[in-house]
Amino acid sequence: MELLPTRPEARALYDAVQRFVRTRIEPAEAQFEAELREDRLRLPPVLEALKAEARAAGLWNLFLNDSPHGAGLTVREYAPMAELMGRVVWAPEVFNCSAPDTGNIEVLDRYGSEAQKARWLGPLLDGTIRSGFAMTEPEVASSDATNIAGTLRREGDHYRLNAHKWWTTGAGSPRCKVLIVLCKSDPAPHPERHRQHTMVVIPFDREGVSLARWLPVFGFDDAPHGHAELRFDNVQVMPDEVIVGEGRGFEIAQGRLGPGRIHHCMRLIGLAERALEKTCRRLEARVAFGKPIAEQSVWRERVADARVDIDQTRLLVLHAAEAIDTVGARHAKAEIAMIKIAAPNMACRVIDMAIQAHGAGGLSDDFGLSMAYAAARMLRIADGPDEVHRDQLARLEFARHR
Ligand SMILES: Cc1cc2nc3c(=O)[nH]c(=O)nc-3n(C[C@H](O)[C@H](O)[C@H](O)COP(=O)(O)OP(=O)(O)OC[C@H]3O[C@@H](n4cnc5c(N)ncnc54)[C@H](O)[C@@H]3O)c2cc1C
Repeated sequence: MELLPTRPEARALYDAVQRFVRTRIEPAEAQFEAELREDRLRLPPVLEALKAEARAAGLWNLFLNDSPHGAGLTVREYAPMAELMGRVVWAPEVFNCSAPDTGNIEVLDRYGSEAQKARWLGPLLDGTIRSGFAMTEPEVASSDATNIAGTLRREGDHYRLNAHKWWTTGAGSPRCKVLIVLCKSDPAPHPERHRQHTMVVIPFDREGVSLARWLPVFGFDDAPHGHAELRFDNVQVMPDEVIVGEGRGFEIAQGRLGPGRIHHCMRLIGLAERALEKTCRRLEARVAFGKPIAEQSVWRERVADARVDIDQTRLLVLHAAEAIDTVGARHAKAEIAMIKIAAPNMACRVIDMAIQAHGAGGLSDDFGLSMAYAAARMLRIADGPDEVHRDQLARLEFARHR
């Protein structure tokens, strides 16, 4: 199986992304960290400079498939590029390919009205603003999205939104200007559980929207974009801010999450590759008990297992990408569930091994491994916990044999 894109245009983009990540982004990691240490709420100037450079080189919005605004790549062609971006946690933004903007752009591009596109899609595609997707609520088990309870109620010629959300990624960014919010609309016209929720798109500075606090992951604030707890108190929503229509929220969510999960999984493979690379370099460079640690048989076995783990997960992810391209995300549910289970667990195992290989240094911030572990671990919960994907996969498997 050819793993890299074979179409010449796609291959040229892959080569350019690889060069850019290796020669421009990886060497800038220390500068990015230093600039953030000076001011965690400011957009690091190095990020801005790299974004401008990537855009000028045509390495922009690569994730967007089936759209005149993308680079014309299929999901399968984009997947190895997402892997490269995953090597550095902030690299996807350099190419305007970072979550949650990618999913929100897809929603607006596919389901937005002309007015919604005119107001929000252009600036998001330009990377001049960022966005948040507010679904999860602290009061309900949000892995079952039909529990989402924040309300959208009609009041004359407009609606009122009241909701308490948390873990809205991106909402901490000074550039976050727009939110897509999933809320429960009037259930009366639609008794079916999956027709009772609605997505709206509203400006972040709308009266009644407030940021209650930032939520760190294992103590990492993920600056400058962060994750936030938000309150929506009697927020006015105009009818033209409803996406597609009342009760259509889940229909849109289905389309939004499929490709996004592929992006996360490919980035995790890049993150794991980097951790394995660091492991090998470290183990060859350190001597303990009279020989390089790399020569201890236990480490040879662990490194070999990590290679198998990464490569088999990559094949599974490429298979899912191919399925999305050929039959569509709606019919690739099993493939998407499989990778959403496999990739974060694989990355956790490999990064955990890398931490062990670095000794106490692995637990510090010096090697980027503790942050990498946090990023991989959170994806066993975000976008649906492992158990929910296993449950869906098992249902599909039982159905096949019924
Ligand atoms: C870093 C980070 C970023 C996030 N970004 C966003 C975002 O941008 N927007 C947003 O809306 N949300 C976001 N989330 C939230 C995330 O999607 C939810 O946390 C997730 O869907 C789980 O919902 P919950 O936390 O309410 O867990 P719950 O639904 O309360 O579930 C708790 C646990 O119950 C178990 N469980 C649930 N269902 C089953 C089942 N069927 N079988 C067996 N066990 C089960 C699982 O172990 C699960 O972890 C983010 C989360 C994190 C950590």
